[in-house]
Amino acid sequence: MKNFLQMELIERRDLTEDLAVFRFRPEQPVEFIPGQYMTIGIEKEGKKILRPYSILSSPLDPEVELLIELVPQGQLTPFLWTLKPGDRLWYRPRILGKLVLQEDSNRNHHLMVATVTGVAPYLSIIRTFHYQLQRRESVTPPRICILHGASYTRELGFLAEEMQRYDQQYDWFTYVPTISRPSENPDWQGEIGRVEDVLRKWADTLGFTADKTIAYACGHPGMIQNVKEILQRARFERQQIKEERYFTIPRAKGGTDASSAAGRA
Ligand SMILES: Cc1cc2nc3c(=O)[nH]c(=O)nc-3n(C[C@H](O)[C@H](O)[C@H](O)COP(=O)(O)OP(=O)(O)OC[C@H]3O[C@@H](n4cnc5c(N)ncnc54)[C@H](O)[C@@H]3O)c2cc1C
Repeated sequence: MKNFLQMELIERRDLTEDLAVFRFRPEQPVEFIPGQYMTIGIEKEGKKILRPYSILSSPLDPEVELLIELVPQGQLTPFLWTLKPGDRLWYRPRILGKLVLQEDSNRNHHLMVATVTGVAPYLSIIRTFHYQLQRRESVTPPRICILHGASYTRELGFLAEEMQRYDQQYDWFTYVPTISRPSENPDWQGEIGRVEDVLRKWADTLGFTADKTIAYACGHPGMIQNVKEILQRARFERQQIKEERYFTIPRAKGGTDASSAAGRA
């Protein structure tokens, strides 16, 4: 495919049967800013099927990781689940996306809100700071809080464990996982509810006030809409809230929005 290169699947690490981290070795090193996304795809019956995915890995990782949810009726993701290590996919070497850390602002608090896979761009940012600090590079990370929502704990899995380690290690970082369906996890000690249910509480508790904070919302469009409304009531201005919607929700009959942030993404 013109303007595309190939990358090889190294490994798929499953969180659930329909949620996994795919690790690829690209033909050429991929240059990107943490928070950006890459476009990957296939050619099927002469037709290109291309989809964007936030990059979960850091630019300092040797390979590229993507956190992907299977959409059973989708065109690309069912195919991704058939891939075996060694199989190849196309990727566009030109990396895009604006959900990157807004470092040049006067606001040095960053409130990052995600539904399941929407955590990928944020983890890329945190991992990059972690590697830079390990290498003793002179970086001063700003104050960052990730609020990560899922239905079940298994959707958080080893990614939550990684972020919990950073939370324990660094004063500048707070990780708050929350699950909306706790009945399957009676031992769960963390937050219960959708991510937007706990947003205001954590923003207030940690002092992420509108005068010093940039907010980010990534993943499910229903969640993003709710987060924007909640933060605007907390005096955030529209331009202080960055967003990346992973898909759009079809309008229900009668013109109402069929959104529900209970879903994944
Ligand atoms: C900037 C950007 C970054 C993205 N990053 C990620 C990422 O890191 N991880 C990830 O898994 N996805 C991500 N997505 C979504 C991804 O690009 C695809 O849309 C998704 O994987 C479905 O592709 P598909 O071809 O299987 O389904 P499609 O054939 O594209 O979609 C079939 C139908 O399912 C709907 N749909 C698509 N995704 C979902 C979903 N998650 N839940 C419910 N319905 C859905 C579509 O709107 C459509 O109606 C991102 C999207 C954007 C715009």
